[in-house]
Amino acid sequence: MIETELLKSVVALCKRRGFIFPGSEIYGGFANTYSYGPYGVELKRIIREAWWRTFVQNREDMVGLDGPILLHPRAWEASGHVEGFNDALIDCKNCKSRFRADHLIEASVGLEVEGFTVAQINQLIVDHALVCPKCGSKDWTDARYFNLMFSTRLSKTAQGENDVAYLRPETAQAIFLDFKNIVDTMRVTVPFGVAQIGKAFRNEITPGNFIFRVIEFEQMEIEYFIRSETWETVFEEWLASMKKWCSWIGLSENRLSCSEHPKDKLSHYSKRTVDIMYDFPFGRSELYGLAYRTDYDLSRHAEYSKSKLEYTDPQTREKYVPHVVEPTFGLDRTVLALLCDAYAEELLPNGEQRTVLRFKPHMAPVKVAVFPLMKKEPLIEKARPIFDALRQHWAVQYDDSGAIGKRYRRHDEIGTPLCVTVDFQTLEDDTVTLRHRDSMEQERVSIKALASRCLEVISARS
Ligand code: ATP
Repeated sequence: MIETELLKSVVALCKRRGFIFPGSEIYGGFANTYSYGPYGVELKRIIREAWWRTFVQNREDMVGLDGPILLHPRAWEASGHVEGFNDALIDCKNCKSRFRADHLIEASVGLEVEGFTVAQINQLIVDHALVCPKCGSKDWTDARYFNLMFSTRLSKTAQGENDVAYLRPETAQAIFLDFKNIVDTMRVTVPFGVAQIGKAFRNEITPGNFIFRVIEFEQMEIEYFIRSETWETVFEEWLASMKKWCSWIGLSENRLSCSEHPKDKLSHYSKRTVDIMYDFPFGRSELYGLAYRTDYDLSRHAEYSKSKLEYTDPQTREKYVPHVVEPTFGLDRTVLALLCDAYAEELLPNGEQRTVLRFKPHMAPVKVAVFPLMKKEPLIEKARPIFDALRQHWAVQYDDSGAIGKRYRRHDEIGTPLCVTVDFQTLEDDTVTLRHRDSMEQERVSIKALASRCLEVISARS
């Protein structure tokens, strides 16, 4: 399928089948916000739970945290976000389109401008006579830096403190603020990690590409605390774990790659950063990131908060500030990559076209659909208890409306791996038809053996 068409088809399917709706649609929409509909919610929940199981529950060196969205404003000064979480923006005076200056220069001149001053950026735009990609004009405003943090106002405190607060642009900082609480209460020993899942907010200059770049999104982040001399090995281990996760959730190997940030382009806090890239329909773009942040964050928060953020080695009693390796995963980008990877349109031998989401069975929002062949007794009476029994294990749907072929197509489109049909033979011998989404093959299975047969297909090994 042509890649530009793929995104359109995925967006249309998401709307048509209740995965993702445009935000505030009845008011004409609110740009770059989305609602996750019933299947989208389920898909996100499955990703979140799988992530937590993989990186927290199944490891002895990890604990969890759920920090607040609003942190003390000084925390964002310490982290460098107030001063440095900026993108340079530029407007076309002719058509009023707004661009990120770095994206514009990169696309036209092939030069990365991270860390450049506004004056240097403006000079490049003049030197290379950059034209507006929308209207072709060369009439630009001056570039200016714009902080991506959303700010909000608190009712003034009694002390008359600054009443500005920021919605967190990343979840990670809360972990550093509670480092001492975790060390004091959890008897964790270095190396150990703290994981957090939650919303983050960024006032992006050029949001877009559906849920790829939005202003409100969800991150799944880890701060992994280490001794500084181990960072290279730990970094490689995390990179391997992240790649393993990508293939376990069902992303195609040939659409994944790594992009190493050049040494001279690293963020101020990072000694090494690797992005895991995915070939989205609009091009190769960052899916996840992995950074070695040294002891930058803990040291800065210690300095700004005047608290001791140290760790004492239980054996040697040596006190030190641990260094940190940070794997970060975007939940919304995971959803988008899974949808794009799973989407397929097929021409069937009978000439019919079908759309199917080929999710790995363990990632599918609905695992099994149960149908009585017709909306009639005694088929319904036989099908309902099967439905009730299976839904004890998984998200299962009961569907008795329309022709059976239509019901199969509906479930192909949402990626349901198994459909169970109760027919007249069921009434005689207690067997049902089990239909497989990808092969469309059907097998006859006894009701007694049905749950374990479904489990075989759905379990993560498949
Ligand atoms: P980009 O270069 O695409 O702006 P970034 O390098 O700023 O991303 P990070 O700060 O490393 O992103 O954020 C960690 C993860 O959060 C990203 O890998 C991505 O999955 C997700 N993410 C970041 N910004 C957004 C956004 N605006 N919308 C959706 N997900 C996002």
